[in-house]
Amino acid sequence: MRNVLLVRMGEIFLKGDNRMFFIKALVRHIKKAVEGTGCSVELTQGRIFLRDITDMEDVIRRVTRVFGVHSVSPVVQCEKDMDAICREAVEMMKSLSGTFKCAARRADKRFPLDSMQINEEVGYQVLTACPQLKVDVHKPQHELNIEVRENAYLYVEKIPAVGGMPVGTNGKAMLLLSGGIDSPVAGYMIAKRGVQLNCIHYHSFPFTSEQAKQKVVDLARQLSAYAGPIRMYVVPFTELQQELYQKCPESQLTILMRRYMMRIANRVAHRANCSALITGESIGQVASQTMDGLCCTNAVCDMPVFRPLIGFDKTEIMDYAEKIGTYQTSILPYEDCCTIFTPKHPQTKPRAEQLAESEKLIDGEGLMQRAIEGIEIINIMP
Ligand code: ATP
Ligand code: MG
Repeated sequence: MRNVLLVRMGEIFLKGDNRMFFIKALVRHIKKAVEGTGCSVELTQGRIFLRDITDMEDVIRRVTRVFGVHSVSPVVQCEKDMDAICREAVEMMKSLSGTFKCAARRADKRFPLDSMQINEEVGYQVLTACPQLKVDVHKPQHELNIEVRENAYLYVEKIPAVGGMPVGTNGKAMLLLSGGIDSPVAGYMIAKRGVQLNCIHYHSFPFTSEQAKQKVVDLARQLSAYAGPIRMYVVPFTELQQELYQKCPESQLTILMRRYMMRIANRVAHRANCSALITGESIGQVASQTMDGLCCTNAVCDMPVFRPLIGFDKTEIMDYAEKIGTYQTSILPYEDCCTIFTPKHPQTKPRAEQLAESEKLIDGEGLMQRAIEGIEIINIMP
């Protein structure tokens, strides 16, 4: 019976002394992902096995989206005995056609046959029982893997998973999450590298609606399906935006607003023990994301700003969003605080000194403090 799943780790094998730290985190996340399905998760000899699976498809769906999992294989487990192994091999291969090869691994060196001999014997039995199959050792369509360990394990299928590193093994960062297409993808990419996410969102009630905020909560929840629990900081941004609108040059509105977003995010991130910021910016996509614009937003932060989409085209980002399942939510037509006070002719070559002059026209410090005091915290669970 195929009620066992073999889980392969991604890049964790590159690790040295702290390998176990990564493996333990991965096992913890896999356990969480299969909670309630009744299967058990076991770590033996550096490999992860899930046993007693009743709904294999459901478990595969859950496990293949855990960051740190490279691929999975439904496995048949049997006794370490050549008759049993050959019987299971034939059973597994009889519904397939085309070419195959056997790939045996003998981890238990006490087993009387070595891997070459296992290959020969199993190959012979499969060929005899399944005339529709042919052997091709160079480019086979199917690879029949036979592992002899504490038991014998057989598998053919290798289902790819998300890859990456277990969340939480690479610190924590603050994602500036808008309701757009880009920032959820940016957050996904960094979380995939093992970074735990916090999110910060700016809303300008009543210019932006309750639905616009709910959309961002929904996006964060979709991210949390991969990234685990996410703490979200919702910042009231209306007063600051109105002050900028009334007192500062119109052409600078967007970039000034972006600078205050970055400043506030930077402060909240320090308090939340995050060590970096994440945005969905990409060079040249809009006026505030020209090279000069990016320099001006960078200039107000004292922690690294990760922009994983920096070299991506919009269409590439859209494809990515489709793949991770955030696209349909992102395109819902609710207004964003960026779009309500948009200048007609935004500066594309802003200079930080000029912007700093404009910022003297408002009480930035007081406005930021009030915005931070008004933060609402929402804990998002997967
Ligand atoms: P997105 O699709 O992610 O909204 P965008 O193409 O609309 O990006 P901008 O509006 O210039 O670009 O925003 C650039 C980045 O600033 C976003 O990717 C996001 O990280 C951050 N950002 C923009 N608006 C907000 C907001 N209301 N709350 C939090 N972060 C925001
Ligand atoms: Mg946006």
